[in-house]
Amino acid sequence: MNTISQRTAIVTGAARGIGAATAIRLAKDGHAVAVLDLDEASCAQTVSAITAAGGRAIAVGVDVSSPEQVDAAVERVAVELGAPTILVNNAGIIRDNLIFKMPVEDWDAVMNVHLRGAFLMTKAVQAHMTAEMHGRIVNLSSTSAQGNRGQVNYAAAKAGVQGFTKTLAIELGRFGITANAVAPGFIATDMTRQTAARMNMSFEDFLVSAATHIPVGRVGQPEDIAATISFLTSEEAGYVSGQVIYVAGGPKD
Ligand code: NAP
Repeated sequence: MNTISQRTAIVTGAARGIGAATAIRLAKDGHAVAVLDLDEASCAQTVSAITAAGGRAIAVGVDVSSPEQVDAAVERVAVELGAPTILVNNAGIIRDNLIFKMPVEDWDAVMNVHLRGAFLMTKAVQAHMTAEMHGRIVNLSSTSAQGNRGQVNYAAAKAGVQGFTKTLAIELGRFGITANAVAPGFIATDMTRQTAARMNMSFEDFLVSAATHIPVGRVGQPEDIAATISFLTSEEAGYVSGQVIYVAGGPKD
């Protein structure tokens, strides 16, 4: 089991889906958790789940693509919960389309949340991590990084996240900071519900169809990703850095 040591964790996009499950899991691991999302009020359910179980959490509204908002949010977390030394860059959006139909705004929107967002959050939080000589950064990539029809923007961003992560590992390792990427396969969340709608399928049929292509015979749940992030943010994961861990119910080639 993980060695428990209470730290302050920040999880972006934690109002729902993988981010919410991760925030709840990190609180169970003993950490104080800052639940960040676009709309502060939308974080209430995640925060309540944590505090009802005896944990410590605050909700913080922030657009991760805004430098001013990111700096203010990280400062608030440091004041209210203590210096953040765990960061999970999870906030994400999809704007799927084939390249010939993709508006430039949809390319920019996806880059701004996934890449600019992870960059801004990490830049602000690493100042605290380097001062503490400890840090655990986990960035959400995706199996789509290897290419996926209709996702030229998202695939490029998620491949970019992998290069970003490996470079963080190289630059920040000497400060006791690790950086890893988790690359989920199909996880049942609002994001995949959105994909089902675009394909004119019911979410239920989409889940059944997806499971037939997954070696373990089921789709993933947000808790599957949270469990992997729990390990990567633990004290004992200090020698795992610069890795991309595929959590997809089977191998990815
Ligand atoms: P989700 O249910 O759509 O949740 C994403 C969250 O991010 C939402 O609460 C959203 O807020 C928030 N967000 C979006 N833009 C933001 C911004 N600019 N600033 C702050 N928060 C923002 O997605 P999910 O399925 O849990 O995915 C979480 C992460 O895993 C994403 O990075 C995604 O790309 C990755 N991933 C997911 C899957 C999958 O199958 N689900 C697979 C591979 C990778 P709003 O609700 O207000 O928009």
